[in-house]
Amino acid sequence: MARKFNFSAGPAMLPTAVIERAQAEMLDWNGSGMSTMEMSHRGKEYMSIAAKAEADLRDVMGIPDNYKVLFLQGGASSQFAMIPLNLMGDKTSADYINTGMWSKKAIAEAKRYITVNIAADTSDNGFTSVPTQAELKLDPNAAYVHYTPNETIGGVEFDYIPETNGVPLIADMSSTILSRPIDVSRFGMIYAGAQKNIGPAGLTIVIIRDDLLGKATDICPTMFNYATHADNDSMYNTPATYSWYMAGLVFEWLKGLGGLEGMAAINKRKAEKLYAVIDGSDFYANPVAINARSWMNVPFTLADAELDAAFLKGAAERGLVTLKGHRSVGGMRASIYNAMPEAGVDALVAYMQEFEAANA
Ligand SMILES: *Cc1c(COP(=O)(O)O)cnc(C)c1O
Repeated sequence: MARKFNFSAGPAMLPTAVIERAQAEMLDWNGSGMSTMEMSHRGKEYMSIAAKAEADLRDVMGIPDNYKVLFLQGGASSQFAMIPLNLMGDKTSADYINTGMWSKKAIAEAKRYITVNIAADTSDNGFTSVPTQAELKLDPNAAYVHYTPNETIGGVEFDYIPETNGVPLIADMSSTILSRPIDVSRFGMIYAGAQKNIGPAGLTIVIIRDDLLGKATDICPTMFNYATHADNDSMYNTPATYSWYMAGLVFEWLKGLGGLEGMAAINKRKAEKLYAVIDGSDFYANPVAINARSWMNVPFTLADAELDAAFLKGAAERGLVTLKGHRSVGGMRASIYNAMPEAGVDALVAYMQEFEAANA
């Protein structure tokens, strides 16, 4: 059986070794006579799986002790409402940096609960850059500052962590978490849907500094309150047990690769190879400012959009799938998350050169 190189933006590829391990444990986890899917989340066995996954994530990311790690549901999209409901406290406004489609969604939802101040907006260049620190119009009285370190659709990634001078910084890391080391202590909260770089869909990870807990507004639903989940080790209700287990296998896999330093070296090489073939030709183009180019999502266009269908067809014949760009951007998008093997990028690069030679 040949596994395809799947360039989907999410749900995305998982490491083959992780899926094989899950397969081996499918019917009988560790002599329990059960699949992890069938276990009580309050049983000894599952609790050990959950605790190990958290410990490994803390280890891999270097999460300080004064941060809680929550294993939630509802996707990153639920966070767009949970953030203002939990973090506005006695403030009336929050700062949002708008760098693309996901920032916009977070802003639209936050506006239902809090006054949104747009600290920077790159829509005038079609969301192809990131604002500099000096361009951020930050309000010292803001409840928090929200940004999207990696815009999954535009392929735009911040090359620095904004300095917010004590105002909690909140980051939607759905498509960049675990791709390289980061200093968690710079953030008030980091969140991510699992289906890009963590594991199967259905799980959302929230990493939150503990002084930000317990400030939810009165109307905040119990299930939307971070304190509910922090106080109950993410088991106030039934968590996404299988996705949590799978995420744990991914964290173990990352440790085996040398953690995030090891992963970053591979990711940097993968991205550089792909941008090199785009920049080295007049046939392919990527509109994003060099300093803001994403390591994880690489959109590119062909010189003639009439060739898009032929490009995709030839790619699929070579086992290179889900390369069609987001409908709002057009062209192609190669999502090359952690689990995309370097061989997959090599195969894509070789195909792009072959296609160009035949069609330019
Ligand atoms: C995919 C994605 C989302 C949405 O995630 P869901 O888990 O589907 O709600 C939000 N933000 C970013 C940056 C994403 O890439």
